[in-house]
Amino acid sequence: SRYDVRCAYVPGDGFEGVLACFEDVTQLRQTDQIRRDFVANVSHELRTPLTALLGYIETLQGPAREDAAARERFLTSMQAEAQRMNRLVGDLLSLSRVEDEARMRPTDRVDVAAVAGQAVRRMMPLAQEGGVTLAAEMPEEGMVLPGDHDQLLQVFTNLIENAIKYGGRGADVTVSAGPVDRDPYLRKPAVRIDVRDTGAGFDPLHIPRLTERFYRVDSHRSREKGGTGLGLAIVKHIVNRHRGRLRIESAPGQGSLFSVILPRE
Ligand code: ADP
Repeated sequence: SRYDVRCAYVPGDGFEGVLACFEDVTQLRQTDQIRRDFVANVSHELRTPLTALLGYIETLQGPAREDAAARERFLTSMQAEAQRMNRLVGDLLSLSRVEDEARMRPTDRVDVAAVAGQAVRRMMPLAQEGGVTLAAEMPEEGMVLPGDHDQLLQVFTNLIENAIKYGGRGADVTVSAGPVDRDPYLRKPAVRIDVRDTGAGFDPLHIPRLTERFYRVDSHRSREKGGTGLGLAIVKHIVNRHRGRLRIESAPGQGSLFSVILPRE
């Protein structure tokens, strides 16, 4: 543990002493360190596309000036880099909004199956484009709970998007949902939404760190797929706000299963 110590000399009438206050600041220091790491990470993540952009601009001003085909190629790459920065800033804003609302209990009545279905429809074009079969198995009713509609939509969208991105061409992604009588960890009746993919999976040793900001199993692959490294951190925060839990199962060559378990009351 780390302590801040403050001392004061206490003069008195016939009594003199020294007053020492010890304050345990372990938690404070840790939070401070996390914040510093976060700022360093964000700077690095923004600088990478910026450096690339500056490189492209320089080439366009010099060697590629008269070459129409090269100009076209460079502009396409510059657009991709700018979009990457845009996604990162968007995810940073989402994360900070979710953190701001962490203590506010969500009050909408949300039909979870309907929201998951909405996320599936939203992600269908991405699946088709990526050669992934996306299917949903959703129950008709019994899945209404207090929640934040937009945030839950974001949770399912992020999980389905990851399943498509990392599942890869030829993979199957299935979204299913159902009621749970009593979740052993939440100790409450719950609903469970599963997003399963038949992609490459990953070593389970990554699972405990997967929801940390900017943690990636394979940085190269994440960047290539346009990932910001913030998707699962956002998911985790939203699930926590709903007093639920995120369960992750994966193994190399076996695909992955991301389950969101939310209390029904
Ligand atoms: P990213 O923007 O990199 O996708 P996320 O926070 O959404 O960031 O995910 C963190 C990391 O978890 C990813 O970089 C990837 O390595 C891994 N991951 C997430 N979902 C899957 C999945 N369905 N299959 C394999 N790996 C996954």
